[in-house]
Amino acid sequence: MALVTGGSRGIGAAVVDRLARDGYDVAFCYRADEDAAGAVAEAARKHGAAVLARRVDVSSHGEVRDLVRGVEKELGPLHAVVSCAGIVRDNPLVLLSEADWDAVLRTNLDGTYHVCKAAVFAMMKRRAGSVVTLSSVAGVYGNATQSNYSASKAGLIGFTKAVAKEAGPYGIRANAVAPGFIETDMISGLTEGYAGKMAERIPLGRFGRADEVADLVSFLVSERASYITGQVFGVDGGLVV
Ligand code: NAD
Repeated sequence: MALVTGGSRGIGAAVVDRLARDGYDVAFCYRADEDAAGAVAEAARKHGAAVLARRVDVSSHGEVRDLVRGVEKELGPLHAVVSCAGIVRDNPLVLLSEADWDAVLRTNLDGTYHVCKAAVFAMMKRRAGSVVTLSSVAGVYGNATQSNYSASKAGLIGFTKAVAKEAGPYGIRANAVAPGFIETDMISGLTEGYAGKMAERIPLGRFGRADEVADLVSFLVSERASYITGQVFGVDGGLVV
């Protein structure tokens, strides 16, 4: 069974779909949009997977711990966890409110800590499992007006490497994926001018698709990646080279 946070749309939804097609039963959580979550679950069931969708706030340690316990009871042992839930609250540093700093760090960084802590504990007992975290190019090279987001995504890289070292002896692998610009709701607010300027800086000349990130996640959680851990993989069309 695989657990995906932030599975109701965007990259998370593509990961749910891809892992269901790979033969996993899939549980996922989301923040708000029940209809969207229902549609993702329904589509994944068409691939033959058992699917559970739960409205859970990843910034709540207790909710996430109960989620992990609950889905293991219903769907069986957890083989893979993919931490996709994330938000942006952009502003230049001097205008960035404490609330926006806290919200981004609590969701992106604390949320990943919460789900990985519960999942890795479950995996350790069976001495097998795989973790994938969603970092970002912003965590690798920093983005102006995204000091909160960049800090959270850089934090995830250190976090993932530490987990890889700590959990490796238990047969658990941990890797981070660092997407560039991927066409999802998260970046739908970019102006056309800015998006065009960014696309010009990308060697492949375009933004990416969520399924292109999901393909890498599918590989990383699988046995095909059995000797790969503690790594950060760009999926960015060559933006960071
Ligand atoms: P999105 O906004 O389309 O989807 C975000 C998902 O996270 C939704 O399912 C939402 O319900 C969930 N979520 C948000 N806050 C939550 C919370 N507190 N508890 C539970 N669920 C919560 O985003 P996306 O573009 O699909 O991004 C997915 C991940 O990839 C994020 O971590 C994001 O930072 C990262 N990423 C995205 C891009 C991009 O260009 N889209 C680039 C780099 C990294």
